[in-house]
Amino acid sequence: MIIRDITAPNPGPFTLSGTRTYLLGESTVIDPGPAIDSHIEAIRAAMPALRTILLTHRHEDHAPAAVALKHATGARILAPLGVLDDATVDQRIAGGESLLIEGEALQVIATPGHTSEHVCFLTSAGDLFTGDTVLGVGTTTIFPPDGSMRDYIDSLRVLLTHQPTRIFPGHGPTRGDAHAVIEQYIAHRLEREQQVLDSLAAGATSAAAIRERIYPHLDPRLRGAAEIQIDAHLDKLRNEGCVVEHGGEYRVIRK
Ligand SMILES: [Zn+2]
Repeated sequence: MIIRDITAPNPGPFTLSGTRTYLLGESTVIDPGPAIDSHIEAIRAAMPALRTILLTHRHEDHAPAAVALKHATGARILAPLGVLDDATVDQRIAGGESLLIEGEALQVIATPGHTSEHVCFLTSAGDLFTGDTVLGVGTTTIFPPDGSMRDYIDSLRVLLTHQPTRIFPGHGPTRGDAHAVIEQYIAHRLEREQQVLDSLAAGATSAAAIRERIYPHLDPRLRGAAEIQIDAHLDKLRNEGCVVEHGGEYRVIRK
C-alpha cells in the first residue's frame, strides 16, 4: 500500500511540526486534521478519488477536517464513538475490526489512554498509524479523567504484541524502529512514575511541587500540561493503592 502524507499548518508545542494526515493508496485518508481550508484543499488535490476517512480520536487537530471532506466528496467516515456526531459518522469502530482498505486488510486496535476512545490502525505489512498514542519524537499527553495513564501503558503493551515494524505518528517523524520506540515509551512512563513516587517520598505533596522536582527548568507554556501528566500518574498510583490523597495532598502508602 502506498503511503503518502501531508502536514497540516498547525505547528505548536503539542502538535510539533503539525498534524500529519496520511493518504493510503488512492482513496483513504487517516486523520484529515484540523478544519483549515488550505489543508483540506491540499488533501483534495492529492487525493481526488477520496472514498474513506479514518479517524483515530476526537481531538481538534485530528478529526474536524473530516466533516468538510465528507461534505465535498461524499467520502464515508469511520471513527470511534465520541468522535464527531452520529449523523456525520458512517461506521463506528472500537478496535478488533479488520477493514478492507485499498484491497488490503487494515486492523483496528483499541488504544485507550491518550483519550478513552483512541484507536490505531495496522496494515498487514506492519505499518502502524498511531495518532497521538505514539509520536515520532517526545511523549504524548494524558489528560484525566478521560485520559488514563493505566490504560495508556496497557495500550502500549497491546501495540507491542502486534509486532509493528514502522510507526506513522500523528505528529513527528515516521519511525522505522517501532518495537524500540514503544518499549522506550513504556520505560519512560514507568521511570516518570518512579520519579513521582520518589518526589512524594522526599516531601512533595502536590502535582505542582512534584513538577518542580521533576522538571525544574520547564518551558512555562508546558507547565500546566506537565502537572496534568503528573496528575495522571497520581491517579494510576491511587487506583493501584500506592498513594492516598487527602485534602489535595498526596502521600505514598506503598511503593
Ligand atoms: Zn490528541
